[in-house]
Amino acid sequence: MSWDEVEDILYDGTEKDIRNLVCPICGGNIAYEYTEEVPAFSYSCQKCGHISRGQGGPKPNCAAYFGNKAMVPVKTAKAI
Ligand SMILES: [Zn+2]
Repeated sequence: MSWDEVEDILYDGTEKDIRNLVCPICGGNIAYEYTEEVPAFSYSCQKCGHISRGQGGPKPNCAAYFGNKAMVPVKTAKAI
């Protein structure tokens, strides 16, 4: 997987796909932040420090599922 594919999944993936996303380089957690007012979207790996800025635009699926600011993989008790 590449970071381009990570972005595709953050925008268009299913809840399950997004919930299980990890950094394609190091397997670390990915933190993302979507700002509706701008709109702007950025995401970064918490382990290796890779950072990307998305296109903004329409609200990404990850924000719809898990809030405008969160970290994946999402660890909750909720089973899918
Ligand atoms: Zn990483």
